[in-house]
Amino acid sequence: MGGLRVETKHGRDYNVQSVGATSAVKEYVCPGCSLAVTPSTPHIVAWRADGLFGEADDLAARRHWHTHCWRIS
Ligand SMILES: [Zn+2]
Repeated sequence: MGGLRVETKHGRDYNVQSVGATSAVKEYVCPGCSLAVTPSTPHIVAWRADGLFGEADDLAARRHWHTHCWRIS
């Protein structure tokens, strides 16, 4: 597991976790570009850190992003 950090985007805090190539074993849809984040692609997982809906809900709503798409979102 990579380091967990907090980033602020559009006035909201997000927990951001890096996922390395060897940890990426499933395919996800990137919310930034609507394309697949294919297995073995290093990417990031982001979820709300402000706890508005409770930590469990925030974790359930986490999204996998291409690193580039997250950076420019
Ligand atoms: Zn993307």
